[in-house]
Amino acid sequence: MKICFNQATTLENSNLVKDLDLCEKHGYDLIEIRTMDKLKEYLETHTIEELAEYFKTHHIKPYAFNALVFFNNRDAAGYKEIKEELQYMCEVGQKIGCKNIVVVPLVTTKKFTLTQIKESAVKVLNELADIAKPYGIRLGIEFVGHPECTINTFGQAYDVVKAVNRDNVGVVLDCFHFHAMGSRMEDLKKADAAKIFNVHIDDTEDFPIGLLRDDDRLWPGEGAIDLDGIFSTLKEIGYSDMVSVELFRPEYYTWEAEKAIKVGKEKTEAVINKYF
Ligand code: ZN
Repeated sequence: MKICFNQATTLENSNLVKDLDLCEKHGYDLIEIRTMDKLKEYLETHTIEELAEYFKTHHIKPYAFNALVFFNNRDAAGYKEIKEELQYMCEVGQKIGCKNIVVVPLVTTKKFTLTQIKESAVKVLNELADIAKPYGIRLGIEFVGHPECTINTFGQAYDVVKAVNRDNVGVVLDCFHFHAMGSRMEDLKKADAAKIFNVHIDDTEDFPIGLLRDDDRLWPGEGAIDLDGIFSTLKEIGYSDMVSVELFRPEYYTWEAEKAIKVGKEKTEAVINKYF
C-alpha cells in the first residue's frame, strides 16, 4: 500500500516546493496536488517542466489532481468552464505523469431530485471521460459527506460509477465523507476494488451525521470513524493500491509543516499496517 500526501493537510502552512521536499524526506510515495491554489502559486515562480523534472529525479510521484469541482447539474457556462479546466489538467497531467483527477459533485442548497442528479452525473462523466481518455487519465468521483452535496454517500457515488461503466471513471473513498453521511459498509463490501481509484484517510470528532464538516477532521486513529471496518473491508475486496492523508484541521495549520507531514504518515501507518 503506497502512502500519499494530500496538500490540504498543510493548506495554510506550506507550499508545493516545501510539501514535495518534506514528503520526500519522510518517505511518502505519492502526492496529490491541489490545482486550485498550490499549483497556481508554484507556477508563479516555476514551470511545469521543472515540476516534471523534480518527479523524474525523486522517489515521490504525482498521484492525483484535486479537484475538478461541481461537475454535475451545472448551467451551460459552468459546464463549459469545467471542460476547459479538465482539458488544462489533462495537459499538465500528461507532462508530469499524473494519472488521476478527483472530481467533486455539485454542493448546493438548490433542490435536485436523485433522478436529476444521477442523469446529469452520468451524462457529464461520459463526456469528461472522453476528454480524459486520450491522456490516459482517470476520473474519481469524491462524494462529499455533507447534506448539501448532491452525491454524498459511497452507495450513491458507486451507483453512478456503475451506470457510467467506463474504465477511467471510478470513486474516491474519503473515510471522513464515508462516515459523515452514514455510508454503509455493505455497499463497500459489494464494490469492485478496481473501481476505487483513491482512498483518503483521516478521522473525525464525534458529531452527529449531517453536522460534520471538514475542519472536524482528526489524525487517523484519533476519532470516531470505523477505520478498522473500512480498511479490513478494503483488504477483503482486494484493494491495496494507495492511501492518502487528507486533513483540513485549522489546529494543525498552526503546526510546522514538517511536524504535520511526519505525524500524518506515522498515524496513517499505525492504522493501515494492521491490514497491509
Ligand atoms: Zn478527500
